[in-house]
Amino acid sequence: MQEQLARLEGAPYGRYKGLVGTWELPGAGTTGETFQLVRGQADPFAPPARAAVRVPAERAGFPPELWSTPVRRRALAGFLARRAAEVAGGERSLRIDGGGQEVLERGSCQVSADDGGVTLRFGLALPGRGRRIDARAAERLMCRSVPEIASRALRYASLDAGALRRFVETVEDSVALRDALPGLGLVAFVADGSVLPRGSGVDDRPATGEGVVPFSSPEGLRTTVELPNAGAVSGMGLREGVSLIVGGGFHGKSTLLRALETGIWDHVPGDGRELAVSRPETVKLRAEDGRRVERVDVHAFVGHLPDGSDTTDFSTGNASGSTSQAASLCEAVEAGARVLLIDEDTAATNLMIRDARMQSLVAKEREPLTPLVDSVRSLHRDHGVSTVLVMGGSGDYLEVADRVLMMDAYRPSDVTERAREVASVPAGRHAEAESFPPVVHRVPDPSSLESESRGRTRIRSRGEDALTFGEHEVDLRSVEQIADSRQVAGIGLALELMVRRGYVDGTRTLAEALDLLDADLEDAGAEALLAVRDEDFAVPRRFETAAALNRVRGLRVTRAGSRTPASTGSTARTASTGGTGSTG
Ligand code: ADP
Ligand code: MG
Repeated sequence: MQEQLARLEGAPYGRYKGLVGTWELPGAGTTGETFQLVRGQADPFAPPARAAVRVPAERAGFPPELWSTPVRRRALAGFLARRAAEVAGGERSLRIDGGGQEVLERGSCQVSADDGGVTLRFGLALPGRGRRIDARAAERLMCRSVPEIASRALRYASLDAGALRRFVETVEDSVALRDALPGLGLVAFVADGSVLPRGSGVDDRPATGEGVVPFSSPEGLRTTVELPNAGAVSGMGLREGVSLIVGGGFHGKSTLLRALETGIWDHVPGDGRELAVSRPETVKLRAEDGRRVERVDVHAFVGHLPDGSDTTDFSTGNASGSTSQAASLCEAVEAGARVLLIDEDTAATNLMIRDARMQSLVAKEREPLTPLVDSVRSLHRDHGVSTVLVMGGSGDYLEVADRVLMMDAYRPSDVTERAREVASVPAGRHAEAESFPPVVHRVPDPSSLESESRGRTRIRSRGEDALTFGEHEVDLRSVEQIADSRQVAGIGLALELMVRRGYVDGTRTLAEALDLLDADLEDAGAEALLAVRDEDFAVPRRFETAAALNRVRGLRVTRAGSRTPASTGSTARTASTGGTGSTG
């Protein structure tokens, strides 16, 4: 490759394409390490070229116990990608996606299930002077920086073995804990000593300093779980049903709920949330006025609208706060959610509550909305869907909650008994609904997702906020459990996979199409999405993929029948993407 490069000095930039192919990694001698230029770069301002480095098993040298299960491989790959990004450090032409606080299955690094060999994939901004090839800089990059990363980041011998083992064991324990939840009848577990608050609103690392109060479980909810590596851990087990988190403003309610939101993912050692986990089918809901809704049955929450539209088959290009939240709830259950999280801070009040006085002032005939408080019990009883609510401003939920947690100066206590007493004094309101109706399944029309321009669908992410999918701009600002911006790219690739493989075919329901997607991701992991395109991405959950699809403005659907329970008996893939212990 060195010679080839030397010959390209000063040549037109486009001739970099001639290097596309697989080369022996410079300086690797007989070790079998390779460098692959996967895709060239059209010009110096185009998106960077894609490259891959492969380190064969003998050279990588990882002991089998570090890669013997899908979970361990994901953890090992996560560690290596982080390390590689660290080693690349100041080299701005190398774009290595190391990931953040969550340990996700990523496009950037894979460990072979067969022998523990390692592949690292990254972006490579090919050096140019104007529109000419800068071969000297390219040589430094490809023949020096890249080999250095391979030897310093992708080989067992050059890594901190203790840190690596801790990383893998931490992830394995998180997965084991999450897998244990259904058997224990829990929706979430937060270990004593967990650190939940973050550095700041824009810093996902743990808060530090004197003021940080580590989590301590209330007596009545303390449970002990045996983990493969950490042994017995004690913490708060939150049971299935309706749970309420109350307490004064600024006492840590939202912070606890956010820990449950992100508890679907595994976290790196030192994060503070390693043992704060929730069920993989946990979905955070919020109001999102302005969003589009396509043919969702929202009549559980919204009756006779002033414009006379049919709320059992409701579409709008501009939902209100309450209708958007109602639609998001029904869509989540349609996609297979088993636990719903709602925070008063971001919820539509009129969808959550309607107290006695308002009931007497505004007759039911005039109020299209039925508040969640009247169907939340049925959601659990009839559909097996639990709810965790943060609600400091209204006591209406005390009556319907199975348990009530109070946050007081960041410390939770179990106030269920007292809440029962308070609730035994009638509030004077009457129930407005008897049950939560069966969820209507919808069949997405593939032509509404396909790209008009033939060839590859454009997939671009803008931070965690937006996805460009073909001609569609999908607003994801209110989809709060997206782990990082690369996962937005992963969502785009997952949508493309569902269309290309014909999972969305105009006859399958959305839930069925998502089941097929999950099966692919279960089998092939990140490779399934890499087959769509070599790109930096993190594997998404079905719920975020569904959320994006539901927000495509051109989406068209037909309606299948309704079924109870909502999911077609499908098993939502574990969020940890490890492939173990899916729970239905
Ligand atoms: P609430 O929802 O009850 O109003 P928040 O969860 O928003 O309260 O928390 C208020 C503030 O307290 C935030 O700045 C948060 O980072 C901080 N905080 C939350 N939990 C803790 C804790 N355990 N230790 C220290 N600070 C915390
Ligand atoms: Mg709050």
